[in-house]
Amino acid sequence: MEKQQQMKDDVKLCIDSQKDELYSLSRDIWSRPELAGEETQAHDRLVRFFSQAHTWTVESHYKLQTAFRASWGPVGGREGEQALNVGFLCEYDALPDIGHACGHNLIAEVGAAAALGLKAALQNQTELPVPVKVTVLGTPAEEDIGGKIDLMKAGAFADIDLVFMAHPAQQDASFLPTIALDEVTVKYHGKASHASAYPWEGVNALDAAVLAYNNISVLRQQLKPEWRLHGIIKHGGVKPNIIPDFSELQFYLRTPLVKDLCILKEKAEACLRAAAVATGCKVEITYPCHEYYNILHNATLANLYENNGRSLGIEFPETPSKFAGSTDFGNVSFIVPGIHPFFYICTEALNHTKEYTEAAGSERAQLFTLRTAKALAMTAVDVVCCPDLLKQVREDFRLAKLKEEM
Ligand SMILES: [Zn+2]
Ligand SMILES: [Zn+2]
Repeated sequence: MEKQQQMKDDVKLCIDSQKDELYSLSRDIWSRPELAGEETQAHDRLVRFFSQAHTWTVESHYKLQTAFRASWGPVGGREGEQALNVGFLCEYDALPDIGHACGHNLIAEVGAAAALGLKAALQNQTELPVPVKVTVLGTPAEEDIGGKIDLMKAGAFADIDLVFMAHPAQQDASFLPTIALDEVTVKYHGKASHASAYPWEGVNALDAAVLAYNNISVLRQQLKPEWRLHGIIKHGGVKPNIIPDFSELQFYLRTPLVKDLCILKEKAEACLRAAAVATGCKVEITYPCHEYYNILHNATLANLYENNGRSLGIEFPETPSKFAGSTDFGNVSFIVPGIHPFFYICTEALNHTKEYTEAAGSERAQLFTLRTAKALAMTAVDVVCCPDLLKQVREDFRLAKLKEEM
């Protein structure tokens, strides 16, 4: 117990001693916002950050152009024993026009800080129950594409035993249910004609788009309250006197549990096809992105995180307000036990607004960001020091997955 406390003190000391470098890292990413899959400068900055200490093995462009991996260890345990690999995830993509309005620069900072903290706690330890490794994974393209899912498919999580990351929000919470998401693109192909002279010769693709939009709007009334179905008309014709021969819509479909997405898809597709039948258009329905899963709750990790957080002054609201967002961490949580807490950053602004962008770059957010990183690393300390806790974390993971399949 005493050793564990000492290790937690080492976490705090290490993160506090590097607070300037960590803020500078986060600020550099914040001041050059890059879109999903294009995070070249953020990637380079993080690779430099981990390379300069010479104690991390750094792999740039790891499996994806803007992903990276930094690893350290193993230490402790007995020779030849399989190491426990603790992973910290860094996101760093931004949004069009409004920059780091989701605060992913702070996610990168938390991941980097927590990894440094855990390494500091481990480096003087020889008597750990198992050998431990620390791995930082730079996971690009969360706001679009789903970089973590591409990394998963490429095997980037295959040797990781636990994953930790945290996301800026409006409140501190060890867990908030996020919801599953898929994106559908629908294209209608009709036939152009003079809209006034020969309208009967045309097949109107804009009419199909309008009907589809209205069908979906009517369907919404019959959906469960937590389900979401929202979209835009991307193309609706080029000129009023030409019957549009092409239209395109994009919708997001979301349900609290990933297993319900297929039900929503079926209902939505019926609406989209009906619009084609009514207008005589041809319809093309595609799902161009990865499906994002909801996050699996790990109660043991969440409790440990809350205890550590409280010891650092984090207050967790009794009943946290809901958050109907989605993340590709959900998919990761189905293959590796992990935790994705949310943290307050000293603003009442909401994610995806200009005001939030400002808050994510400001010095005021630093105290909240760094104590979140400390709480994550301290939670990792608890698990690596206590094999029973690790067993419990794995059992929670197994049961949560089982429940999901029922
Ligand atoms: Zn976001
Ligand atoms: Zn985000």
